[in-house]
Amino acid sequence: MPEVVVDGVHKSFGVVEVLKGITMSVERGEVTALIGRSGSGKSTLLRCMNGLESIQKGAITIAGHAVTADKAKLRRLRTDVGIVFQSYNLFPHLSVADNITLAPRIVKKMGRGEARTVAEEVLALVGLSDKFGAYPDQLSGGQQQRVAIARSLAMRPKVMLFDEVTSALDPELTGEVLAVMERLARDGMTMLLVTHEMGFARRVASTTVFMHRGRIHESGPSRDLFDAPRTPEMAQFIRSDI
Ligand code: ADP
Ligand code: MG
Repeated sequence: MPEVVVDGVHKSFGVVEVLKGITMSVERGEVTALIGRSGSGKSTLLRCMNGLESIQKGAITIAGHAVTADKAKLRRLRTDVGIVFQSYNLFPHLSVADNITLAPRIVKKMGRGEARTVAEEVLALVGLSDKFGAYPDQLSGGQQQRVAIARSLAMRPKVMLFDEVTSALDPELTGEVLAVMERLARDGMTMLLVTHEMGFARRVASTTVFMHRGRIHESGPSRDLFDAPRTPEMAQFIRSDI
């Protein structure tokens, strides 16, 4: 069974249907890129996957959890599914270490010592071991985003969802965040990422899904999609986005 299964999902905001029957899956250890024009429904789909938005029709299973409206079940699901957004939303009054250990200590009831070990481990993973005691405002945007990723990893998720995590960063800071994501991918993390970084998607994601007006317009092996788009919309999208 794939790690992420989306089956016939419909989602409306009021009378506006923004997801019009989405079916897709992500195998364990695979990376899938989600691309498409602004407003095509990428963020909404990601948010539905960890229950931040409810769906009207269809079903989603992720990391072995069915997405439901049940709050206790959703809490369990979210310990296995990390999500990182464009805005990193670190707590400014907490040190990097405290930002990272907050959820493990509260949600997973981790002791201080174990939480510290986990924080050291995930900070090393994102290349920021030296920022353990720093505060967010002492870090660059790229470093803050890497802390946000580390914070998610501290929960030891089975699946990571990334929504345009480099879009707010200057180009010179984008690379360091992409490098962290590439490393995670190499280490076998199951990942679904919304991105505008077409070169990154082509290289790192085995599968790319092109969304258009709330539907999957085209999907398949990333190289095939980028090198030989089958639909004019995908062709136009990658031409205008590069
Ligand atoms: P993308 O991430 O591809 O840019 P979104 O998923 O953010 O697209 O948005 C898809 C559509 O849903 C857009 O038309 C957007 O305006 C609409 N939308 C997203 N969130 C909401 C919301 N909370 N309430 C109403 N409409 C929304
Ligand atoms: Mg979006």
